[in-house]
Amino acid sequence: MPGIIAALTDALGRRVSDLIGSLGGVRPAPAPPARFREGPAAIARPRRGPAHARVGLGIGYPGAQMRGLDRILELQGLDTAIDRLEHRREQLEAGEELSSLRKEMEEADARLGELRLASDSISSESTRLEHEIASMSDKLHAEEKRMYDGSIANARELEALQHEIASLKERRSRAEDELLEQMVRKEDVEARAAQAQTEAEAARARVEEVGGDAVRELDQISADLAAKRSERGSLVPAFDEELLELYDDLREQKHGVGAAAIVDGVCQACHEKLSAVELERLKRTEGVKRCEYCRRIVVLV
Ligand SMILES: [Zn+2]
Repeated sequence: MPGIIAALTDALGRRVSDLIGSLGGVRPAPAPPARFREGPAAIARPRRGPAHARVGLGIGYPGAQMRGLDRILELQGLDTAIDRLEHRREQLEAGEELSSLRKEMEEADARLGELRLASDSISSESTRLEHEIASMSDKLHAEEKRMYDGSIANARELEALQHEIASLKERRSRAEDELLEQMVRKEDVEARAAQAQTEAEAARARVEEVGGDAVRELDQISADLAAKRSERGSLVPAFDEELLELYDDLREQKHGVGAAAIVDGVCQACHEKLSAVELERLKRTEGVKRCEYCRRIVVLV
């Protein structure tokens, strides 16, 4: 069982190191396995004087007692809330949601406008056809009357009149077909206009709602941000400057999260499960505990 032997040896080695640490020995940190080491950016960052050097030696190893360690998650909670509020405020100020809704509303209005124009033009075309049909009917009626009132003198005149009546009937029938077509079109356009009107009204209501909501939400965010920042301001003096510096650096490098809880052996920031040996070591670590995977400050809960 070479694996177990290696783990035992490792644990024993650590225990000895811990003992040296607790006796006040300043033992440089052993390098974490290559794949867990900080990225080149972290390595290349300039060290900032003696405070930093001390952090480098103490953090993660026994003996480095730091003020505020018990409240670091509280600070992280506040910072996460502040980050989230600031992000939401940026979104609202950019007004992306509102401008896309406004665009939808404008499009719905434009569709409605076009349909109304089409409906108006169909109406006037229908009116024109109705007048044309009425006038042709009047003319037909008059011509038909003339045919039987004895005013026709000869066969050629009669033939011409019959021809005129047939032509009038044909033109009127064409106009009636056209009118029917226009009526069908109008029905369709009006149904679409009613639908477009409903959509345009809904879009307008949504713009007003979201616009009003955005204003109210921005006010709320300002109030929440002020409260959280003041809470943060009163919490900060509870921390050792060095701890705060480390935490801020980590937050900068690691997507705003510098400290995380270890729950059931799992780091809540990187979601890696720590080995039993490592957990045991962390439990015995009195100073700043760090996740062996993501190197964030961790708190066993
Ligand atoms: Zn981690």
